[in-house]
Amino acid sequence: MTAASAVEMSPLVDRFGRAITYLRVSITDRCDLRCVYCMAERPEFLPKRDLLSLEELDRVATAFIRRGVRKLRITGGEPLVRRGAVDLIHELGRHLRAGDLDELTLTTNGTQLAVHAAALARAGVRRVNVSLDTLDAARFAAITRGGRLADTLAGIAAAREAGLAVKLNTVVLGGVNDDELGALVAFAHERGMDITFIEVMPIGEEGFGRGDRFVPLDRVREGLAQRLALIPSLHRSGGPARYWQVAETGRRVGFIAATTCSFCATCNRVRITASGRLETCLGREESVDLKGPLRLDLSGRELHRAIDAAIAAKPAGHAFAEAWSRPATRRGMHVTGG
Ligand code: SAM
Ligand code: SF4
Repeated sequence: MTAASAVEMSPLVDRFGRAITYLRVSITDRCDLRCVYCMAERPEFLPKRDLLSLEELDRVATAFIRRGVRKLRITGGEPLVRRGAVDLIHELGRHLRAGDLDELTLTTNGTQLAVHAAALARAGVRRVNVSLDTLDAARFAAITRGGRLADTLAGIAAAREAGLAVKLNTVVLGGVNDDELGALVAFAHERGMDITFIEVMPIGEEGFGRGDRFVPLDRVREGLAQRLALIPSLHRSGGPARYWQVAETGRRVGFIAATTCSFCATCNRVRITASGRLETCLGREESVDLKGPLRLDLSGRELHRAIDAAIAAKPAGHAFAEAWSRPATRRGMHVTGG
């Protein structure tokens, strides 16, 4: 083995001993919805020329898989609005078939799933996370600034029909959807889906006033426990969610208490934006350019050098608790990829 290829195969471990085995790739910062907590009403999207091509996204994801990443999540913006998204996912599926990847999955708002679910299943996707904050059409339109609940529900149905396991993600917003969390659990569990509640995070400009809508998830869990028998579960999905099993349904409810609970000590993930910036912490501004090295040096050596330098500098953790007065990062979740 040459020196370069030895580097390319070596596992990614940061200075705190955390092995990086999970990569999330945002393939577009654009979206067909405008969720109030995620982006401004008129966000400035990246110029198309700044985006990595599909082939470059494949190269960079493949580089990480060679360095020990076992789980790959495609996200956005809305990943399924990027032309060629399903082709890219199909291509990346070769790593599953080769046994180099355990899971290829995506996070989506579901609006395009009715069209793409079957092709995603053929590409090797087994599970998808679908974001759903309400079951009320008027609320859905308000939260997403004009989206149609029926599209997301049709997407969820199509995904299930295609044999994909669906997990719902719900961002809890005080005074907006916190009165229907029990109904969302029932909706999910009646259909054989798990659901995870997420604390709203101070990421990016949004013009909505997220801080005033923040609800700590301990309070959500206590509220649910008055109606449902919640049993702590040892289940782990390889991420920050902590799970409880609902005795009545046998299914799980997850909680991602991103701002109130520190799970950074066991963080195994990094993110790549659609313009090729490697972000080693969701809640920190720093990022490293991979597009330059990717384009300058086709051998991949410069790319791996940039990846190594970024992983060596991965911060110990986020600082959301200090960040309600202004966002922890200027870039929004639609850029970083949630
Ligand atoms: N468009 C896709 C979707 O909505 O699922 C994928 C990208 S979206 C940025 C990924 C996840 O981030 C979604 O579940 C969304 O609800 C969540 N999200 C966006 N902004 C957030 C914020 N400020 N705090 C917490 N979660 C947020
Ligand atoms: Fe789009 Fe997802 Fe952000 Fe909503 S949360 S605006 S669906 S990227």
